[in-house]
Amino acid sequence: MNISRRQFLGAAVATSCSALIPEIALPAPVAQQVAPATTIWVGGHSGEFDWQPFNASSWRDAVKQLLGHHGFGNEEEIAAMMTLPDEELRAELKHFHMDVERARKMDGLQPDDIKPHHWIRAGLGACCSRCDSECYADNGGRAIGTEAVCEECLTLTDLIQGGGKWDLDQAEEQLVELMIDEDCDEGAVFAILSKSNDMSVITPAFWTKCLGEARKYV
Ligand SMILES: [Zn+2]
Repeated sequence: MNISRRQFLGAAVATSCSALIPEIALPAPVAQQVAPATTIWVGGHSGEFDWQPFNASSWRDAVKQLLGHHGFGNEEEIAAMMTLPDEELRAELKHFHMDVERARKMDGLQPDDIKPHHWIRAGLGACCSRCDSECYADNGGRAIGTEAVCEECLTLTDLIQGGGKWDLDQAEEQLVELMIDEDCDEGAVFAILSKSNDMSVITPAFWTKCLGEARKYV
């Protein structure tokens, strides 16, 4: 090869919080009948939130774009890297704790249009749109509309609008707890919830049910 390991290492710098792929096995490639407008790969440093989406035609194309993104030399130097057989290229990436993975659920999107909620919808990690902390699809991170939302930032109305049984049970539990904490003072509970919730989503029936539950403990 024409590029030294030192050169290869030279410009590797993690960028700002973007996204992280959890260490999970991705499904094997499946033949598609209609090719999407874009085929998205994601790549970055293992464990870092510097992962980027790339519209790439193959694993090698994604690796090439990843090397370019992280400044692993100029065009000629990267071209020299790309003359390595797959196995050696994988070893080099591994040495620098870098990887690329296919992200089929992002296919069709332009890389510039891929937002944190797309990362969560793809089963990956992203920075919470509300508090900027790192969150993961498999650890409480949720895509709510056009937001990625961590577990801590998930509001009562997010849960109710989610509509799933688990979400509604969680919402009920949260509201009952808050009512108990506030000694069933409905005005106080309403005032607290109003700060971060769309109160029109909480129905009178839901409110009454939770109040009845909370009164058993107050
Ligand atoms: Zn958050």
